[in-house]
Amino acid sequence: MIEMNRLCVFLGILSMIGCAGNASGQSSEKGWQDYFVGDVRFEDRAAGTEGSEIYAAIIPDPAAYIKNSALQVLKTLYFSPDDSIPKVKTIRYTLRDYSGISAKSGSGSFISIVYSTQWIEKNFVDNDTARIDYETKGVLYHELTHAYQLEPQGCGTYADGGQFWAFIEGVADAVRVANGCFRPKDRPKGGKYTDGYRVTGFFLNWLNETKDPDFIRKFNRSAIEVIPWSFESAFKHIFGDEKDCHIDALWHEYMIATGDEKDEKETGHTKNTR
Ligand SMILES: [Zn+2]
Repeated sequence: MIEMNRLCVFLGILSMIGCAGNASGQSSEKGWQDYFVGDVRFEDRAAGTEGSEIYAAIIPDPAAYIKNSALQVLKTLYFSPDDSIPKVKTIRYTLRDYSGISAKSGSGSFISIVYSTQWIEKNFVDNDTARIDYETKGVLYHELTHAYQLEPQGCGTYADGGQFWAFIEGVADAVRVANGCFRPKDRPKGGKYTDGYRVTGFFLNWLNETKDPDFIRKFNRSAIEVIPWSFESAFKHIFGDEKDCHIDALWHEYMIATGDEKDEKETGHTKNTR
C-alpha cells in the first residue's frame, strides 16, 4: 500500500478527462477465493545453499505464498473468474542454484517456474528480509502473469521480439508495477511502448491509474477481441477513435507526465529527452 501511494505521488495526480474507458467495475474479491489456480508443487533443488535457507526463513509455506500470488495476478488481469482465463492445472516451482533470476517454461495447463537462490543471496543485503519478500513476490508476479495472461494473435511470435513479445513482457511487468512490486526509481526513462518489460509495463500501469482503472484488464482481454492484434488497434478498441486517445498521443502525454520529455507548449523549447 505504501509503495502504491508512493507510485501515485511519483506519477502525479492527473485528471481523468479525455480517454477514459466506458466501463468500470473493479475485479471484486467475490468468487476468486475458490478459484482453482492449479496444483502448486514446490521443490527445493538448492537445499543447503544460503539462498535456500533465506527463502525458507522468509517464506515458511511456499505453496500458500504462490497460490496467493496467483490469485493476486488473476485479479489484476481479469474482471471475474467467469472471464476467459487459460486453465492451469499444475504450477511447478523450483528453487535452483544458478546465476540467472527466474524463468517460466511449459505452456497450456502445465507451468514450470524456476527461481535462483543466487539471486536471493544477491538481494539479501543488510539482512533485509522485506527486500527479499518484495523481490521474490515481484519476480513471481511477473512469471505467473505468463501462466494466466491471454496471448495476442496475428502479430508475430515471441521469438521475433515484435509486438507479440512486447505485449507478453509488458503486461507481465505491468502486473508487477500495479501491485507495488517495483519502485518508482525502477522505471526506465524514455523509450517506446514497444520496448517491452518495464518500459511498456510502467506505461500500461500509468494508463490504469490515470485513464481507466480497468485498463490492464481490458488490454489483456484485447488479445482475444482484436484480431489481428497490434498496440495501436488495441488502444483504439479500448479508448476509441479520438486523436487525443491515439497510442502515440497517450505515450507523449505519459512522457510529459513523468518528466522524461518537456512540454513544448509550456516551455517553448524543443523536445528534450533525458
Ligand atoms: Zn517474462
